Amino acid sequence: QKALFWFRRDLRVHDNAGLYHALKSGADVLPVFVFDRDILDGLPQSDRRVAFIHASVHALQAELRAAGGDLITVHDHAAAAIVRLARQHDVCAVYTNHDYEPAAQARDATVRHTLQQAGVELLTFKDQVIFERDEVLTQAGGMFSVFTPYKRAWMQKLDAFHLKAYPVKKYLAALAPLPPQTIPTLQHMGFAADALAGLRITPGIDGGEQLFEDFKNRINRYHETRDFPAVKGPSYLSVHLRFGTVSIRELAAYAQHRGGEGASTWLGELIWRDFYAQILWHRPEVAQQAFKPEYVHLPFPNPQDLFEAWCEGRTGYPLVDAAMRQLNQTGYMHNRLRMVTASFLVKDLLVDWRWGERYFADKLIDFDLASNNGGWQWAASTGCDAQPYFRIFNPVTQSEKFDAEGKFILRYCPELTGLSGKALHAPWLAKPGVLASAGIRLGHDYPEPVVDHGVQRDLALALFKKARPG
Ligand code: FAD
Repeated sequence: QKALFWFRRDLRVHDNAGLYHALKSGADVLPVFVFDRDILDGLPQSDRRVAFIHASVHALQAELRAAGGDLITVHDHAAAAIVRLARQHDVCAVYTNHDYEPAAQARDATVRHTLQQAGVELLTFKDQVIFERDEVLTQAGGMFSVFTPYKRAWMQKLDAFHLKAYPVKKYLAALAPLPPQTIPTLQHMGFAADALAGLRITPGIDGGEQLFEDFKNRINRYHETRDFPAVKGPSYLSVHLRFGTVSIRELAAYAQHRGGEGASTWLGELIWRDFYAQILWHRPEVAQQAFKPEYVHLPFPNPQDLFEAWCEGRTGYPLVDAAMRQLNQTGYMHNRLRMVTASFLVKDLLVDWRWGERYFADKLIDFDLASNNGGWQWAASTGCDAQPYFRIFNPVTQSEKFDAEGKFILRYCPELTGLSGKALHAPWLAKPGVLASAGIRLGHDYPEPVVDHGVQRDLALALFKKARPG
């Protein structure tokens, strides 16, 4: 008997739940990856994620070959390809790991239904989170919409079983022998081969492992360093978590056993990831609209020119501009800056949070629907456990607090070199002589601020107040 194992956002062999179950089932296992045209056909040629996935799939193939198997890869529409391969190889079952995004759920339902008609089972497993779906519920049996009690319940439910790695290696002999398989090239699929060039991103499990090893030396200080974008504080593991080139169980187990304030703060971030995944699963409509009903119809004016200035990093607010340029140039943005730029778009520029969410989705190499939507709805105050609407980040104060010396700003806005202190955080407040001696003409070398924070703050408050009941 044969079975397919369908890799998706779990591009590793070790500690892979679905792969473990497939190998253990007694069937000969044929591993498959589909470059899904339903997703890929809509992406720009230079998409960095496709390059990351492609390199990680090569690494995965090497791992499977070393274990005596291989990886079948196709460039096709995923649902049709899986059904075709199942038929072609005459398998009894297709194994895969859960994906909680609405489009993936619809795709999997189609695959399940079509396979069923041919007498083939689709068997799916939890792999990408510690607790999924309705595994962590309130005492009344409902979903948690506030993080702190969710985290408490999550921690209470946590035991060694949920952190234990699946011993895949023991069962690798069940990989079916295959003739050498070729992976379609990026060019063949219509993508640039050099999208990751110069980005210091190492794909595949080696990349994930290197980052994690490096982070272990810093994790004790995470709670102190994580908010400062010029400092190497966070783990930078998000892209690896997104594509499964690291195992969430391994990371969470490490943080849990390591203990201390840094590791427990970091574990808290991993719990936020589970939290948003279960929100999306319980309430898939958040992908289109505000979680809070009173904010579903907020009348954002959506000025197109200001949105474009934000996208391109030319708002005249240095921290915001540096952050947006980091996103555009590298596909990554520091968490503190995601909060600052999101708040700025919604509450200073009065642009619908969904515009920003979409822009991040296009640019972030770690884009994850649940976390991105959760982050945007948090910053826009429309989300489940969000920033209250009246709490509006002051972009200058945030800059002074989290990039006091302006190191991060100058990395991405080198045209401001020569400024320091307040003049760097808010150049329009600098004395003309200060700007002149740095050789900067506002509106020429660097933009004038596109809005006045104080004025926009009042407009944002009025917009939210009008939508609120009572
Ligand atoms: P670390 O600080 O090392 O954290 C470790 C891991 O915990 C992260 O890799 C991530 O998986 C998880 N995590 C951390 N913070 C959060 C959070 N607030 N919510 C959910 N999970 C979290 N994260 C994404 O993975 N993809 C996104 O598309 C995404 N979009 C965001 C949009 C906005 C507006 C905001 C405010 C946050 C967003 N985040 C997103 C969450 C967070 O900013 C990133 O996970 C983090 O910056 C990634 O860097 P890191 O791996 O170094 O994080």
